[in-house]
Amino acid sequence: EHDVSEYRQSLAIRVSGFDVPRPVKTFEDCGFSVELMKAITKQAYEKPTPIQSQSLPTVLSGRDIIGIAKTGSGKTAAFVLPLIVHIMDQPELEKEEGPIGVICAPTRELAHQIYLEAKKFAKSHGIRVSAVYGGMSKLDQFKELKAGCEIVVATPGRLIDMLKMKALTMLRATYLVLDEADRMFDLGFEPQIRSIVGQIRPDRQTLLFSATMPRKVEKLAREILSDPVRVTVGEVG
Ligand code: ADP
Ligand code: MG
Repeated sequence: EHDVSEYRQSLAIRVSGFDVPRPVKTFEDCGFSVELMKAITKQAYEKPTPIQSQSLPTVLSGRDIIGIAKTGSGKTAAFVLPLIVHIMDQPELEKEEGPIGVICAPTRELAHQIYLEAKKFAKSHGIRVSAVYGGMSKLDQFKELKAGCEIVVATPGRLIDMLKMKALTMLRATYLVLDEADRMFDLGFEPQIRSIVGQIRPDRQTLLFSATMPRKVEKLAREILSDPVRVTVGEVG
């Protein structure tokens, strides 16, 4: 459905920030584990898309990032692959210590897609992924979160519900992704996003992805990201 190689040719990439890492040309350049490389090959991802080629080395180096790119540019792998590496670098989780990676998305459909993609890469490393969004039983979700996970993919409203129910804590969360930030704002999730961010330690790594950067999103980015690298993938023209 998405021919990424053709897509790349119609795209220009702009990068700003201090000491920006060089983009990678191949997934091999990322220093991924054998298991992760196998999972990538299984997806038939031959080379990184433009947003991935700049995001992967940036995020792997521990930097915050603002990624501005349209739907279909491969943003999910751009934040999920470094998250797997980030988790493998952490000491092992005790049962109820809460997730290391927290991914917020605007709708249950998008959260579910990210959940499926994350599971593909997490499986081989024994990393557990939980999905938290409306339309599922709160009790079932509560129980699943209580059992423990390293990655939680959530819509903001339901994640707040689960935090209030003490289904999870953010004590160990060190990697926060806000995906489709502009859409989350359009859907009125700004207060929930701010509440979630406020519960995660300030020395976290923060990644914000958006198709557009309205002023309100720009303001949030300035407040919650530190020294971010900004990557914009846009059409030539
Ligand atoms: P976005 O979040 O930017 O809309 P997705 O992460 O959903 O994009 O990716 C769009 C499609 O491209 C998905 O089908 C995904 O599997 C595929 N894809 C992602 N990265 C690559 C890659 N490096 N090579 C080929 N296909 C890719
Ligand atoms: Mg996406």
